[in-house]
Amino acid sequence: MKLSVVIPCFNEELNVGPLQEACVKAFEGKVESYELIFVNDGSKDGTWKALKALYERHLCPVKLVNLSRNFGKESAMYAGIQKSCGDYVTLLDADLQQSPDIVTEMVAFLDENPDFDSVAAYQENRIEGKFTSWCKKKFYRLMDRICDIDLHEGASDFRTFRRSVADAILSVTESYRFSKGIFSWVGFNTHFIPYVAQERHAGTTNWSFWKLLKYAFNGILSYTTFPLKLATIIGAVMSFLSFVYMLVVVIQRLFFEMAFPGYATIIASILLIGGLLMVMLGIIGEYIARIYIEGKHRPIFIAKEYVSYDKEK
Ligand code: UDP
Ligand code: MG
Repeated sequence: MKLSVVIPCFNEELNVGPLQEACVKAFEGKVESYELIFVNDGSKDGTWKALKALYERHLCPVKLVNLSRNFGKESAMYAGIQKSCGDYVTLLDADLQQSPDIVTEMVAFLDENPDFDSVAAYQENRIEGKFTSWCKKKFYRLMDRICDIDLHEGASDFRTFRRSVADAILSVTESYRFSKGIFSWVGFNTHFIPYVAQERHAGTTNWSFWKLLKYAFNGILSYTTFPLKLATIIGAVMSFLSFVYMLVVVIQRLFFEMAFPGYATIIASILLIGGLLMVMLGIIGEYIARIYIEGKHRPIFIAKEYVSYDKEK
């Protein structure tokens, strides 16, 4: 098998059919053999029924994984990669925002360039709200500064990689999965190509602004311990400032005999220090919570059903 296309699906009943047709049209004559692996990520609509129908249609080799609930796109992708057996693996969204024609370009690139292990697409111009776009840009800058890993600005999960990369990704079994971080962390030679995301074929995006914010926060906590160092930095700066202030107070008292109306300043500084301590405790708590969750070693996903054209795998 040359290519496995992994497609996570959450409430995509109207999209999976057209996507399969688009893939067949794009790959015919260009990719020698391929399979589509759809992972139903606990959809609330008729996605599983639509997937079953598409499997029965035998338009091309299809595998279906039905997760026991919604585990999130990251886990769904993991489940799909685990079932893949192609030399190359592609991660593709189900909503037709990413054209399968680009996948054939990625495959051709890997064929022609044995030095590269992975081709990733990044969005040059985003067709989305200005504010969201601005936030995403700032997030990538921040990640770049405080994390050890290198994230390409605008890079998405839309990528094609060799089996060696797929195995490396599977070996990362943490349950807080920030895929862009994982792709970068496993290394390998990656070639970036620009692409323009199309409008969603049907349905709405599953990412609200808050979900994105949580995702960004997760990325930062997963790939840097910088927030923990903030406590040391803030503590050092505050100690220095209070030392200077103490000197000023002593000098004023000794040489200028000034009195100190202190009530308001004392309350203000207690509140400030109390607030900062609570924030730092919260940050430390976030890291401890992660240790707690990871310590349970729960599986990344649970599949309740699996259907495959291939009786072996
Ligand atoms: N998705 C998923 N599980 C989720 C959320 C999303 O499998 O909990 C899938 C979704 O069906 C789609 C892909 O992830 O195939 C990207 O989701 P979406 O289009 O909502 O994100 P966007 O394109 O807006 O970033
Ligand atoms: Mg989308």
